[in-house]
Amino acid sequence: MYLELPKLPYAYDALEPVISSKIMELHHKKHHQSYVDGANRAMDKLIKYRKGEIEIDVRATLRDLSFHLNGHELHSLFWNIMRPPRENNLPLGKILEIIERDYMNFQTFKKEFSEAAKTTEGSGWSIAILYNGNLHIFTIEKHNLMHIANSKVILALDVWEHAYYLQYQNDRNSYVENWWKLVNWDYVNRIL
Ligand code: MN
Repeated sequence: MYLELPKLPYAYDALEPVISSKIMELHHKKHHQSYVDGANRAMDKLIKYRKGEIEIDVRATLRDLSFHLNGHELHSLFWNIMRPPRENNLPLGKILEIIERDYMNFQTFKKEFSEAAKTTEGSGWSIAILYNGNLHIFTIEKHNLMHIANSKVILALDVWEHAYYLQYQNDRNSYVENWWKLVNWDYVNRIL
C-alpha cells in the first residue's frame, strides 16, 4: 500500500534546453520524493491511529495526505505528458478533435491554458480535464485539487517555482511558452 517514487520515462537531460537536467533531477529526486514520503507518513499515522496506538489531529492528517497524494499523482502525470522538445509540437488525433470542438482551435486552447499557468497564484498548476465529455481548464493552488470531482486530468503544467526558477528565475511566462514544445500529445491521446 505504500507508494514508491516512479522512474522517469526518459533521462534527466532529455528535456533540455526547455527544462535543464539540474531542475529535472532536483524536481524528481527531491520534490517528488518528498510527496511520496509525506503521503506514506500520513498513511502510516492513520493506520496507527486506527489501531489506537497514537493520538493524531485527524483533520490535519487527512489534509496532509491529500496534499502529498495529489502532489504524487500530479507529478507522475507531469513526467509522462512530456517528451524531448520539438518545434511545431502540435496535438493530433482524438485530442485535436476535442480541442477544436470545445476551443475552436489549438491556438485558443493554448492561449487560455498558458494564461491560467502564468496567473496561478503562488505555487500551483494549470490543468486540463475531461468532464462529462467536455474539455475544461482549471488552476490548482499548491497541490490541492480544486476541480470537478471524478473528472480526469489529461494535461498538467507545474508552475511551482521549483519547476523553473533555477533556469528561468522569475520569468514564468517564458517557461510556460517553451513548455509547449515538450507536450507528449501521443500520451495525452492514450489516456483520453
Ligand atoms: Mn513540482
